[in-house]
Amino acid sequence: MNAINHAATALIINKKWPNVPIIPVLISVQLVEFLWVIFNLLGVEITTTEPVVRAVNDIHLAYMPFSHSMGATIFLAILTWLLFTYTLKRPVWGVALAAALSSHVLLDLATHVQDIAIAPGIDTPKFGTGLYGIPLIALAVEIAYGIFCWWYFQGTKLLLAAIVLLNLASLSFYWPALLGPEQLLAAEPKLFAAVIGVHIVTGLFAIWFFAKEQWGQSSGGA
Ligand SMILES: [Zn+2]
Repeated sequence: MNAINHAATALIINKKWPNVPIIPVLISVQLVEFLWVIFNLLGVEITTTEPVVRAVNDIHLAYMPFSHSMGATIFLAILTWLLFTYTLKRPVWGVALAAALSSHVLLDLATHVQDIAIAPGIDTPKFGTGLYGIPLIALAVEIAYGIFCWWYFQGTKLLLAAIVLLNLASLSFYWPALLGPEQLLAAEPKLFAAVIGVHIVTGLFAIWFFAKEQWGQSSGGA
């Protein structure tokens, strides 16, 4: 899923647990992706591309069981929950941050082709709805999800504009006929990882910035 929509998940977490500080929430919704960037740059996880990259389905997330697998997410979520509940004595943070962290692979399962393994060491089967095989439909679904997060949070019109525009900024990446900067990523998986790293930070910053007057203002319990 596009970085801006993962970041938008922080709006839901904040609405549900308004007393949990937003910075750890923002980091948690994208922790899996930060790990993916680091592991790809180190060569621990592997991404391959078609000779010509026209859209997201020409890039293959070939091996990423340490960042994106169900087992890795369950392990990290339990670790987060234990750390915040028992070591830091912040049980509500523990639940909220474990939920934020787990949201990542759930959203990727809902959009990716079958590239998410059960756990490291178990190479097949892999899971994903296959939506990224039809990228323009995937983009429409992603925008709808981003708007849902905004609606649930009851954000400002500027926040809505940021979510929609940052989704549309990736249009060429979701539309094979529209050639864009994704062509430069052919056979350059580490460059792709670095670009995703920039996208992650941009998306998180945009959500933080355009909702900054509203963080923690809902009346939900925490
Ligand atoms: Zn991901």
